[in-house]
Amino acid sequence: MATQRIGLYPGTFDPITEGHRDIIERATKMVDLLIVGVAVNADKGPLFNLEERVQMVTRELQYLNNRDGTIIHVKPFDNLLMHFAMEQNARIIIRGLRAVSDFEYEFQMVGMNDRLNPDIETVFLMATDKYQFIASRLVKEIARLGGDVGEFVSPRVEAELLDRFGRPPAGGTGTAGD
Ligand code: ADP
Repeated sequence: MATQRIGLYPGTFDPITEGHRDIIERATKMVDLLIVGVAVNADKGPLFNLEERVQMVTRELQYLNNRDGTIIHVKPFDNLLMHFAMEQNARIIIRGLRAVSDFEYEFQMVGMNDRLNPDIETVFLMATDKYQFIASRLVKEIARLGGDVGEFVSPRVEAELLDRFGRPPAGGTGTAGD
């Protein structure tokens, strides 16, 4: 039997956007098991705490889990990315690339991670053009200032953002709760 290909897609997902989802859909075509690693990243001062982000990502990816035979596990982590990848037996780390701005940081990360474990490859994927510019940081900023983020996140995530910023739901319907 062929060995199972395990990939790790790490991020903060504060909140998960259509850009992340696009990368995750692409990643599922490459591996048998995809671990979506939700980083604690307390120093980034996340809007949603770790548990909320894990729950949100799990829920948002439910439709994709085992859709084409790839299993998706959503897991929190707070240790070094490379150590987490090794713990999970991942052989590839998947990252999304947006613009040139992501490149420099990712370039350094790949170099350092390769020193830490040369057996784990980092693979870069690009989202489809209409999602390429989406960043969680900007989505939060727009939602905080009352702008429409419906194109960038799912309706549930949008409702949660509006709720977090104490704004009425768009269109006057829908709730952020379960
Ligand atoms: P980080 O804390 O590493 O910035 P993010 O949650 O912002 O984590 O993103 C996780 C990964 O997804 C990163 O590799 C990031 O570059 C990628 N990513 C985020 N948004 C997009 C997007 N719109 N298109 C492509 N890749 C993206």
